[in-house]
Amino acid sequence: MSFDAESATPFFPQSYQASRERLLANARAWSRHLPVLIDSRSVPARGPSGETLAQDWVQIGPRRGGRKARRMLILASGTHGLEGFCGAGIQHAMMEHWMRHGAPARPGNASGVNPWPWGLPPASDWPDDFALVILHAVNPYGFAWLRRVNESNVDLNRNSLTRFDTSLVHPDYEALYDLINPTDLDPAREEQRWQAIAQFVAERGERALQQAVSEGQYKYPAGMQFGGQKLEASIVNLHSLVREHLAGVEQAFWIDYHTGLGEMGACELITGIPKASPAFARGYQVWGDAIKSTDSGDSLSAKLHGLMEQGVYACVAPDARFFMVAAEYGTHPVMRVLKAMRMDNWLHHHADSQHPMWPAIKAEVLEAFRPNQPQWRLKVLQGAQSHLGAVFRDLGMAVPG
Ligand SMILES: [Zn+2]
Repeated sequence: MSFDAESATPFFPQSYQASRERLLANARAWSRHLPVLIDSRSVPARGPSGETLAQDWVQIGPRRGGRKARRMLILASGTHGLEGFCGAGIQHAMMEHWMRHGAPARPGNASGVNPWPWGLPPASDWPDDFALVILHAVNPYGFAWLRRVNESNVDLNRNSLTRFDTSLVHPDYEALYDLINPTDLDPAREEQRWQAIAQFVAERGERALQQAVSEGQYKYPAGMQFGGQKLEASIVNLHSLVREHLAGVEQAFWIDYHTGLGEMGACELITGIPKASPAFARGYQVWGDAIKSTDSGDSLSAKLHGLMEQGVYACVAPDARFFMVAAEYGTHPVMRVLKAMRMDNWLHHHADSQHPMWPAIKAEVLEAFRPNQPQWRLKVLQGAQSHLGAVFRDLGMAVPG
């Protein structure tokens, strides 16, 4: 069954806390049908209501409990905090709609139309060795506080380095530092700053600005796009989860959901692996030309430092057929998104939650990464249906017809 905008909406959560509670309720529902493992790692921060913030690894299967999965699909949300509103929507759709516990079909399927787009078998017929993993909120702090970065102002998708060089910063970032990291929002000064930014874009192009700002910098802890100066606790936790639960896996795909780059609702699948590398072929085999490489320069994303995938690959057995990809959904134009991030960075370093501008800045940063549009939510689920269908076919799980 294909969604319409109205039926897509309920899968998208209203807050981190509501999303986490829903995830755990879904896990309980699934545990009546298949072995469910929940491995939660809390982070050293609290949410706005004092709630616990945790990375939740919810693993459904393998069907034969007590054994390690040999085939696995991992769907991850919230590496960039509030981008988790998108990824969690896909996760809830997967657990509540796309994968069925078993026959008979759930209410809402009275038409007899199969609502499961890939003809997936019911839980009772899953392959013995398969597990689905819902990794909810890689960066729970950012999800809860409506930020891209974590509790240490670190972008977790720039933090996976084996050696941190605290002088590493793009020369253009350094030159633009005061423009992109203002200490005040004085209207006259802001106007001058934006004129200077516009001049940079006119001379060098928007892509040059995107490269300088977004590639990750390791020098300024209070600056935008800070990659950290050590591995963050969330990344250490993540590596531990991967080593433990992917041990013995033979075939696995990991889709890390992101938003903020590209046309409204469009989805680009992005890897940092060079196209010429043999490892790229693993993703190409599943998604063909839909997959883009930041290394090869054909992606919407700039080439970045310290990608999370680098650290994860290092934790997976080298002989496993493993591929990790970022699924990036477009929202608003890149300058609007950068502007929202810039304001949010100012808010957290030069103001607090009592500041009169807090609500407006938070509303704008949320809109930048989770547009409040029914059509956007519909496109998100349609895009997921397309790239996930390809994975299930590769895993040999889709039933023809
Ligand atoms: Zn992202």
